[in-house]
Amino acid sequence: MNLLDALLMSRKMKFEDGSITLYGESVAILPLEGFIMYASKIASDKSTTKILYSTMRNSMLEQRNKLNAESKDNDPSGWICDSINLYGFGKMRYEKPLSSQNRTMILECSPFVKILKGKSSAPVDHIVRGALAGIASIATGQELHALETDCAVSGRENCRFILDSKEKLVNEFRELCEMQI
Ligand SMILES: [Zn+2]
Repeated sequence: MNLLDALLMSRKMKFEDGSITLYGESVAILPLEGFIMYASKIASDKSTTKILYSTMRNSMLEQRNKLNAESKDNDPSGWICDSINLYGFGKMRYEKPLSSQNRTMILECSPFVKILKGKSSAPVDHIVRGALAGIASIATGQELHALETDCAVSGRENCRFILDSKEKLVNEFRELCEMQI
């Protein structure tokens, strides 16, 4: 059974009159084009890019108690990808199996890339990064951040993210951290 069917069956996702809830939190199904154009305007410079990322990361972390139980009910590493896929942010997978040495994730079919291709030369998946960092922090019990090192918006095949502690990311990717975290 796929995750959506399982959530509907267990009533962890509910469609009711005028509202949709997932794990008890309100969610919405949006026409993505307008939302993504809005998000890309917000992320127009370094400081606002960081705000977009941290707002999304924090909003996930605020649901830590509810989501923690969910991740423990599933395989936590698989749950990270399933959650990103469930939110419609594209198809997330590990570049290699998750370990403390390797936390590289690959995203195919990002809706942000689909809509912003040709309109940006810098990475565009800040909302996805924020969601990924928050969800992965909950699933692993560590304070993780996510950098987008390659983005398909500038012609790469897929988007590529590195998950790690802020300290390690700053050591290895100082310039990118200054742009993204
Ligand atoms: Zn991207």
